Amino acid sequence: MDTEKKRQLEMEVMETIIGIYCRGHHHANRCATAESEPSLCPDCRRLLTYARSRIAACPRMDVKSFCSACPVHCYSHEMREKVREVMRWSGPRMLLHHPLMTLHHMWIDYRSRRREKKELHS
Ligand SMILES: [Zn+2]
Repeated sequence: MDTEKKRQLEMEVMETIIGIYCRGHHHANRCATAESEPSLCPDCRRLLTYARSRIAACPRMDVKSFCSACPVHCYSHEMREKVREVMRWSGPRMLLHHPLMTLHHMWIDYRSRRREKKELHS
């Protein structure tokens, strides 16, 4: 998969999990700024905007898997905690609502982890 496609996919996954999290927690003042955007409360929107900017700036997109599995933690401590919480909550629900997207994500994760292990031992 080429780098830009991967970047695009990671942004989509991020959008989806934050959307599930926000809806599931019944956050107030949810709205979408554009038709292609998920409905999010101001807090979750801030998190998504932040995550997007990290993904857009990621220098390791071609070698790493997803930010959740990346050894270089470019997220600030606060944002990382938030993303972790969102993933913990949305992860199992993702599998239910978006099984293909989740499996694909897990597959990329698995593949790159294996590759990193190999690099470590060679
Ligand atoms: Zn929210």
